[in-house]
Amino acid sequence: MLGQMMTQPLLISSLINHADRYHGQTEIFSVETDGTVTETSWGQVAKNARKLASALTKLGLEPQARIGTLAWNNRRHLEIYYGTSGAGFVCHTVNPRLFPEQLTYIINHAQDRVLFFDATFIPLVAALQEHLPDVQHFVLMGPRNEEVIAQIPGVKFYDEFIETGDAGFLWPSFDENTASSLCYTSGTTGHPKGVLYSHRSTVLHSFGSNTRDVIGFSAMDVVMPVVPMFHVNAWGSPYACAMSGSRMVLPGPGLHGEALVNLIDTYGVTLAMGVPTIWQGLLAHAEQSGSKLASLQRTVIGGAACPPSMIEIFREAFGVDTIHAWGMSEMSPLGTANHPLAKHRDLPLEEQHKLRESQGRPCYGVELKIVDDDGNDLPHDGETQGDLLVRGYWVLDSYFQMQDENLLQDGWFATGDVATLDADGYMTIRDRSKDIIKSGGEWISSVELENIAVAHPKLATAAVVGVPHPKWDERPLLVAVKAEGENPTEEELLSFYDGKIAKWQVPDKVVFVEALPLNATGKIMKRKLRADFENTLNG
Ligand code: ADP
Repeated sequence: MLGQMMTQPLLISSLINHADRYHGQTEIFSVETDGTVTETSWGQVAKNARKLASALTKLGLEPQARIGTLAWNNRRHLEIYYGTSGAGFVCHTVNPRLFPEQLTYIINHAQDRVLFFDATFIPLVAALQEHLPDVQHFVLMGPRNEEVIAQIPGVKFYDEFIETGDAGFLWPSFDENTASSLCYTSGTTGHPKGVLYSHRSTVLHSFGSNTRDVIGFSAMDVVMPVVPMFHVNAWGSPYACAMSGSRMVLPGPGLHGEALVNLIDTYGVTLAMGVPTIWQGLLAHAEQSGSKLASLQRTVIGGAACPPSMIEIFREAFGVDTIHAWGMSEMSPLGTANHPLAKHRDLPLEEQHKLRESQGRPCYGVELKIVDDDGNDLPHDGETQGDLLVRGYWVLDSYFQMQDENLLQDGWFATGDVATLDADGYMTIRDRSKDIIKSGGEWISSVELENIAVAHPKLATAAVVGVPHPKWDERPLLVAVKAEGENPTEEELLSFYDGKIAKWQVPDKVVFVEALPLNATGKIMKRKLRADFENTLNG
């Protein structure tokens, strides 16, 4: 016997309809490519999304045609999110920071039919155009600009293009398992692979992230996703915020500390989301300028391990609660978020703070387990580490147009991370399996060594990688960037580890560099560091 409840499909258009109907006046502040700020609203975004959907439909594209974007976090990009998926096309966000060869590969692999781009990327698109045979329409996200016509033959202009559409467009209904959006992994692990999200997975992910012990966006919040809309859909915030009717601040291209502090203070941002490297710049500027980030209540930090020292500065200096979260493109991306349990309420403060450092517990909708090399389950004792496997409502089943029958292990996806899980489900990422340092048969967590190093007041940032060693196979090397005006010695930095970890885990050596190499999503490129310093301990 089936239940007798309505079976409306879970569609992305329902999110924008809700925001339009119940939060239509709610403001969205958008930093444009030229740095000016536009104020719009969920109602206006919904209207433009309908016009765009109608204009795209009139082009006669095939169902689920891929529509590419090369764009910052801004209002037009938000309209494209809804206008494409809502009409049954696939919103394919492309990371503009990738190399031109990678961009060509990704856009051609996805067979994008339309490419929307911000003015920043005019030269890039002009150079790529002849290599993108499947793209039939290039659309500059802005008003008409005669100069661009010479550079990109046949270019269309967003503000004119949507006027060819009808604001009364009715969102079509279809199977909730239909593909909605596509995002390629940033390629820190080889060739970029496409993750194809569905309407159902996206709506369920929005419900999941909106539970209170995950992120729990609210209509009282002013949300600033600093994490790009071209990387895992800004962690799903454009969808979840429509569901909750949050105000949004879309920060555009300028993501340096000063710009972010100004946006927080000007628009009263209450909740900001991003990777740790972004917050380093923000915290440095806030300290310099004397801003207290008065409106900010919460930050969601993930994408790479958030150092405990960063959580502490947010808490002690700014009264901001950090939600340390973990996930990946293959998981839409939310997997875990760190919040306390009722039983922790009476613990001494120091212990409560310690508990907030790990990557947290799985959201409803995601299951985690750790296994050994033979796939056997390992205990959840907070000590045993193993390969982390996941499954759930918004976890991928297979990569876009890639055959790999062995991708899942008994229905579980191997994340490539090495982690411990404790009895309450709190997970600690020890490392990515390829970054973990194997010294004389023992494993050393590079994340742990980095967390300690970046807490040193004379360092701006640091990374730890394993490099070849004649006796121990591999030993940790600390690659450090000095804080401005400071000149720490190697000895000083290494002695900072005394008493914090076992002696044999302390890095063998420190090398100082001007800056760390970052990939297109702001993560440290450890592969490059390993190659650069390969011979440091070898002879
Ligand atoms: P890629 O960098 O390959 O494109 P993602 O951007 O999806 O992949 O990043 C996913 C990976 O980022 C995770 O598998 C994990 O290694 C790392 N990661 C994400 N969040 C955290 C976190 N809070 N702590 C440690 N590592 C994290």
